[in-house]
Amino acid sequence: MFELIKLPFKTNSLEPIMDEETVITHYQIHHQGYVDKLNKALPSNIDMNIDELLNDLDTLPDNIREPVRNFGGGYYNHNVFWESLTPDLDKRQISDDFRNVINDNFESLDNLRSLLKDGGLKVFGSGWVWLVKNKDNKLEVVKTSNQDSPISGGFKPLLTIDVWEHAYYLKYKADRALYLDNVLKIINWQEVGKKYFG
Ligand code: MN
Repeated sequence: MFELIKLPFKTNSLEPIMDEETVITHYQIHHQGYVDKLNKALPSNIDMNIDELLNDLDTLPDNIREPVRNFGGGYYNHNVFWESLTPDLDKRQISDDFRNVINDNFESLDNLRSLLKDGGLKVFGSGWVWLVKNKDNKLEVVKTSNQDSPISGGFKPLLTIDVWEHAYYLKYKADRALYLDNVLKIINWQEVGKKYFG
């Protein structure tokens, strides 16, 4: 059985950028909902972790492929999302080693932020924008729709921003651009770097 991860910060600690009501609704209703639906869809004898399930959807039995893609993706993607954010000012600081990697791949951290914002704006409908590491160890900004996850395409996800309306509508209404600008100020670059080097 899969379990909802513990939120790595207090529900009110991302205020004012992410309001407590949004965090609580997003975590306790939406994220929990994916966990519940995933558990309901899977046979009890499945002995794979979420990475293994999502890694190669084609090898899964027909009757669980879609639930894993949608509910397993929803579970996994939100795990990465919460890990991508922090109220801690120290954790928002990027390490010198990881800044060099970012500069090599995107010229600057500001440029990467622009690419993430632009990608997030271009997601049509519901989805996600990601920073991922590809098989050649290069970094890429990619978009996914619905609850699709780049882990299913062979990428290692490092950071993601949820651009489903439930992620921002209570506070930002339809202003996804302002939401993206603000969320990019609370990224846990320490954690993102850890995922890259890990
Ligand atoms: Mn969400």
